[in-house]
Amino acid sequence: MPVKFPSFRSRREAMPDKLWTRCPGCSEQLFNKQLEKVLHVCPSCGHHFRLPATSRLAQMLDEGSFEERDLGLASVDRLGFVDQKSYVDRLAAAQVATGLRDAAIWGFGRIEGQRIAILAMDFGFMGGSMGAVVGEKVARAAEGALDERVPLVIVSASGGARMQEGTLALMQLAKTMAALERLRLAGIPYVSVMSDPTTGGVFASFAAMGDINLAEPNALIGFAGARVGAGTIGQELPPGFQRAEFLFRHGFVDRVVHRMDLRRELAALLRLITPRAKEASRG
Ligand SMILES: [Zn+2]
Repeated sequence: MPVKFPSFRSRREAMPDKLWTRCPGCSEQLFNKQLEKVLHVCPSCGHHFRLPATSRLAQMLDEGSFEERDLGLASVDRLGFVDQKSYVDRLAAAQVATGLRDAAIWGFGRIEGQRIAILAMDFGFMGGSMGAVVGEKVARAAEGALDERVPLVIVSASGGARMQEGTLALMQLAKTMAALERLRLAGIPYVSVMSDPTTGGVFASFAAMGDINLAEPNALIGFAGARVGAGTIGQELPPGFQRAEFLFRHGFVDRVVHRMDLRRELAALLRLITPRAKEASRG
């Protein structure tokens, strides 16, 4: 049974939404209610806005099918880390702003009736950074998929490892990879969906390791930032470097999928790659 925590209303819910959002792609003023209906993709230029993890799950899964796991997991400040603010204060602020305990949600759900383990990251929570809790949830999602022999889907949105957790954050790269390796050995499929941005330690570990790697249009995907890359090789980078379409052309991404098509495409993919579905169709 999920652990019950005292609930608090997130600022996202508590404050009345502003009515309009300016599109960073084409500068059009978009009516928020309308933007929700088109899954937060600009109808004029196709700019894909970043999504809170809860909206992502609501868009992708069959209505009412999500069963959250480990929702009580919350990060602790093992290192007593302080920069301009203490890590404890940053965590508290992120929790109030998002209504989440940390930067990822995982559980089981269905896409067009097919049961999956799913994890969605939330960039709004400290840049979707991966500390011990995010890493643990990724590992548990993989273990959950293995236990139930259902496919795993992870939607990444992250600036990378959480620097406030130092080496403990970096350890999550190895831990998540080990869990995915067990999944691979058991022949359970894993589909990675990279949204804007999928960078740093998340790209360097589980996000790029899907049996099938999907990306949303124009998502920033890569390890180090473009300026660091250009500085390291002492050359200008090609236009569109580290964007989904560039990575697709160079074989790092299998398919760039518009958000409007994501649920339908995932459902079709899952039907093709799920071991159980294959067995059932043979019988
Ligand atoms: Zn636009």
